[in-house]
Amino acid sequence: MILIGLGANLNGIYGAPEQCLKACSDLLAGAGIYIVKSSNIWKSAPVPVSDQPWYCNAVCAVETVLSPPQLLCALATIENDTGRERHEANAARVLDLDILSYNDEIINEAHLTVPHPALHERAFVLYPMQEIAPHWVHPRLDKSVDEMIVNMPKGQEIQCIENSQLLSTYMDKQGAS
Ligand code: ATP
Ligand code: CA
Ligand code: CA
Repeated sequence: MILIGLGANLNGIYGAPEQCLKACSDLLAGAGIYIVKSSNIWKSAPVPVSDQPWYCNAVCAVETVLSPPQLLCALATIENDTGRERHEANAARVLDLDILSYNDEIINEAHLTVPHPALHERAFVLYPMQEIAPHWVHPRLDKSVDEMIVNMPKGQEIQCIENSQLLSTYMDKQGAS
């Protein structure tokens, strides 16, 4: 299962962060990355805690023929096209797209770590992931999503926006044909 984590907390060319995440289904499809399942959008306090605006986050399962480095490159291109600026670590951003998992691969390259190295500590990843991939097991830690939720750092503020899944025009087209 290829899982992508999406995050945004600044307004950009697609409007508010929630709108930018919703634009991602088409942006990803344009790069050959097709959403097959989406979590709801979750609103989360910045991690680490700061006075930045709260984030909108989601996790999507995708299908693609792109290899992990090709996928990373495609995601960076989409981020750049939305106006993502790169400042210091953890700076506010119009769009962040991370590879959370790529099937059961374990990758430790200079520019790519899969599964994402902080996945197991982040409520804004684990709760959306629980919605769409409750049976996923972290291939390096050998932990289920539920186990990682129990063990993650406490006190992370997060709330679900009901019925806010990212639409997949790809699946709609498949269904229509
Ligand atoms: P974090 O990694 O803590 O979520 P971030 O997403 O804010 O932080 P970025 O500035 O977006 O960090 O990315 C920094 C670098 O992380 C990228 O240039 C990329 O090479 C590298 N990276 C390593 N592993 C991954 C991954 N699984 N998904 C996305 N980027 C990754
Ligand atoms: Ca990130
Ligand atoms: Ca990133």
